[in-house]
Amino acid sequence: MTKNYRGQGCPCLQGGILLTDQYGRQITYLRLSVTELCNLRCLYCMPADGVCKKRHDEMLTQEEMITAVRAAAALGIRKLRITGGEPLVKADIVELCRKAAAVDGIGEVCLTTNGTLLPKLARPLRDAGVNRLNLSLDTLDAGKYRYITRFGDLTDALDGLEAALSCGFEKIKLNAVLIGGFNDDEIPALAELSRKYPVDVRFIELMPMYDSGDFGPEAFIPYTVVTERLPELVPVSPDGGVAKLYQLPGAQGNIGLISPVSAHFCTACNRIRLTADGKLKPCLHSSDEISLKGMDYDGMLETMRHAILAKPRWHGELSYRERSRANRNMNQIGG
Ligand code: SAM
Repeated sequence: MTKNYRGQGCPCLQGGILLTDQYGRQITYLRLSVTELCNLRCLYCMPADGVCKKRHDEMLTQEEMITAVRAAAALGIRKLRITGGEPLVKADIVELCRKAAAVDGIGEVCLTTNGTLLPKLARPLRDAGVNRLNLSLDTLDAGKYRYITRFGDLTDALDGLEAALSCGFEKIKLNAVLIGGFNDDEIPALAELSRKYPVDVRFIELMPMYDSGDFGPEAFIPYTVVTERLPELVPVSPDGGVAKLYQLPGAQGNIGLISPVSAHFCTACNRIRLTADGKLKPCLHSSDEISLKGMDYDGMLETMRHAILAKPRWHGELSYRERSRANRNMNQIGG
């Protein structure tokens, strides 16, 4: 159903609702980072001293975020992911999710979290209309969890998972960043969670960001390590996402392998990103940013339309030496 949308004269809007970029990709997915702040300090994601806190007036207001979601929906965005920083440290997160879920055209609201605040927030978020959750969990070892998050408590994340499981989300995915010498020995144990719980477990290649982590070349391991360690994996049909999907025999959920470094999926990229300080990023690993801060609906709509049309074909080489050109740490983008 097409609702409240403008720009029907644009030749790029197919069937009246979907915006296609110059490489033929239909852009239907917005990742909205609602804060740069986090209650953890994952080594690969952000610096030890956290973020240089920006002035309040440099960040998007809740109203601007919702206006941006409305403009995005008018251009054909159907899936919204709320991310951060840690989105659950944002005081108005439940209200923000409720308003975003009510935007005409948004079919699905997903949220990515470290899970530690879910014991309190899982139920209100589900009631606010969040459909799906991704929960980051890189290790099942309490000491390693403390190390990688710089001080986090594994119990908090596991309690968050239990809370989420009891709230009827349509899908829960666990995200583990693959880090050679850190958690590659835990691939079987992490994958086993897809047998124990109705969750997908996804292994994501470590992306060499601007200033995050002090990892050596051995830390960057390809997704194929997972299929080598788990020969019993059976391929399953893709679900339209970027992960290559498998399943363990008897499992309740899938194993997803996400390979932004060793086998990029830019030709299938259907997403744009908006940072908490209002920068629209057509490509995660590009330094191109277009500010939406201070714009009204019409300004955002036009700016987004042009940004989508200018989306780069691919993100360029990424490796230990060829680092991301994003000029931001991941907590300032949202993953
Ligand atoms: N705080 C939330 C969380 O922990 O999920 C949301 C924000 S976090 C930036 C979003 C995702 O990005 C997480 O799954 C995290 O593991 C992933 N991520 C952060 N830095 C990364 C990196 N350098 N390479 C791969 N994934 C990364």
